[in-house]
Amino acid sequence: MSRCGADWFMVLLIARWPTFSCFTVVRVGNNVRMGATSNGGAPPTSEIDVAIVGAGFAGMYMLHRARQAGFTARVFERGGGVGGTWYWNRYPGARCDVPSLEYSYQFSDELQQEWEWSEKYATQPEILRYADHVADRFDLRRDISFNTTVTSLEWNDDGWLVTARSIDDNAPDHHDVALTARFVVLATGCLSSANVPRFPDDHLFGGRTYHTGAWPHDGVDFAGQRVAVIGTGSSGIQSIPLIAKQAAHLTVLQRTPAYSIPARNQQLSPEYVADVKANYGEFRRKNSLTRAALGGDTPTGPHGACEVNDDERRSALEARWQKGGLLFLGAFNDALTNSESNRLIADFVRDKIRSTVLDPDTARKLSPDSIIGCKRLCVDTDYYETFNRPNVSLVDLREQPIERFSEKGIVVRTSSSPCRDVGGSTESRHMEEHEFDAIVFATGFDAMTGAISKIDIVGRNGLQLRDAWSAGPVNYLGLSVHGFPNLFTITGPGSPSVLTNMIVSIQHHVDWISDCISWMNANHARTIEADADSQNHWVQHVNAVAGMTLYQSCSSWYLGTNVPGKPRVFMPLPGFPAYAQTCADVAQNGYRGFHVS
Ligand code: FAD
Ligand code: NAP
Repeated sequence: MSRCGADWFMVLLIARWPTFSCFTVVRVGNNVRMGATSNGGAPPTSEIDVAIVGAGFAGMYMLHRARQAGFTARVFERGGGVGGTWYWNRYPGARCDVPSLEYSYQFSDELQQEWEWSEKYATQPEILRYADHVADRFDLRRDISFNTTVTSLEWNDDGWLVTARSIDDNAPDHHDVALTARFVVLATGCLSSANVPRFPDDHLFGGRTYHTGAWPHDGVDFAGQRVAVIGTGSSGIQSIPLIAKQAAHLTVLQRTPAYSIPARNQQLSPEYVADVKANYGEFRRKNSLTRAALGGDTPTGPHGACEVNDDERRSALEARWQKGGLLFLGAFNDALTNSESNRLIADFVRDKIRSTVLDPDTARKLSPDSIIGCKRLCVDTDYYETFNRPNVSLVDLREQPIERFSEKGIVVRTSSSPCRDVGGSTESRHMEEHEFDAIVFATGFDAMTGAISKIDIVGRNGLQLRDAWSAGPVNYLGLSVHGFPNLFTITGPGSPSVLTNMIVSIQHHVDWISDCISWMNANHARTIEADADSQNHWVQHVNAVAGMTLYQSCSSWYLGTNVPGKPRVFMPLPGFPAYAQTCADVAQNGYRGFHVS
């Protein structure tokens, strides 16, 4: 395919056309870097069919399917390896909260039969080993450029100019990389752009700081240290019990208490695994018929929480509590649609917190008063029990907000004195300085749109995606944005994505996109793009479905409210089966709602 003397099927071009130089690709381990040639400014003629951004589970499978369909494809990945979430989130205690027998690919029966998960909820290292195994088994690495961040995407009538910045482990500087691709698939991840809040004087802190989503690969030894964890979402709740066991003292800084359900994690018994594997297809099918595409063996209860008497309710909730995990909320069928039912379920969890945490004041602070499930439910091992340890303390930031960082730690306001910043003795009476050796930010992500918004994406007629999404993300089916032809998002906003077992949603999207571009080839179509009308209707549909739930009753990353300045829009679409049916109907009807040319 190369037309400028390169010996590879793709030629990387530096700088934007029309004044580009042509580069051949030189392999350095698994990375690519370039050796320059020049073609004197001719238009870029070398191209691939599909450029994929991200090598998590979405990008890996997209590459596999694209190749199977006969397309040339290349993946660009910011990190140094595959696995996405599981490459970056190496904090202590990181593991999945969807059972591993479900939280795994199902596109290859050989793969799902041969891989052995050791625990109900695999640890991050085990999931990363699985991702590496998949990459090796399907020979994916040869088409992945690691340490390469896509910085811009520009539509030019026939395809996309993809520009990326590549960092070579062996060289101090970076290389700008560019190529043309007919299609671009954004597999950039819903939870891959870290949210690191700023605090006054945070630059002064002299100790080490970490974000759970960018954890050092060599691990961190907290032994003997005074550690702070800011944030009590899933990442905080998983890491706090393990950091507490290591640190001399752990201070948890909590802004909003979370509801957490015990994982009841355990080794998987060979009998259970054999049983699932003997009927894996049916097991997967049942899961995909549930709203969250998980837990088909434990269907949602047939009643609302108010429709049963107190004993029946308590016993149904107790059974789910003992079973553990996310399916707790499925004890009743109206947990997220009926606020009174929700209150009864939340009361049950608050009782559990009170009966677990010995100090009543700490138990009070740990007890959420919001809708359960409004923020994503957490799943833990010994989270509430950890607050009974003598080396753990809790700071409730609603009562004692962070005033500023200091060289030694974090200063919180201990009373609601109106005399802010008057200094001297008044400050010392109303402020308390907590000294730390290390601060862990378990503060989450700029979810669903963060990674996409970091890329300069310019569509038809110079339209910037950032501008198209300035009031919140808009698209059709969560897959395609009007004004951005031949560009697809995997698990984009407007699709069930983060409300499901994400590997199911990822596979569904990848299969749909692969089928779509194969159909385009078969029908000699050049471009596909969401119609403006279908996009508007879809956005209304997503809002209407979300409006029937209690999801909008609290601040959450689903709504973007965790990131200052982000528009408040409920981003995912509840309900996997109905959504999958709609996507199938659209495809069967000649990609209804899309403009195909
Ligand atoms: P990711 O795994 O996030 O991969 C995206 C990749 O794109 C990243 O490697 C990133 O570096 C790369 N990238 C982004 N922007 C660029 C760019 N501009 N250029 C180049 N590369 C780029 N979901 C579940 O269903 N069950 C769970 O139990 C579960 N547990 C989770 C635990 C944690 C700690 C977190 C953070 C998330 C969890 N999730 C879980 C959600 C999880 O993100 C998905 O399940 C899944 O791993 C997402 O895969 P992905 O490929 O779509 O995205
Ligand atoms: P998160 O759920 O967004 O939690 C972030 C925490 O940081 C919240 O407690 C938040 O408080 C707090 N926070 C944010 N900004 C703050 C500030 N300026 N000051 C004080 N506190 C602040 O993020 P996460 O825990 O990383 O989880 C994100 C998602 O990733 C999860 O919901 C889940 O989908 C996935 N995940 C899954 C697992 C798993 O169990 N498999 C583990 C980790 C992550 P507020 O609530 O007040 O905003």
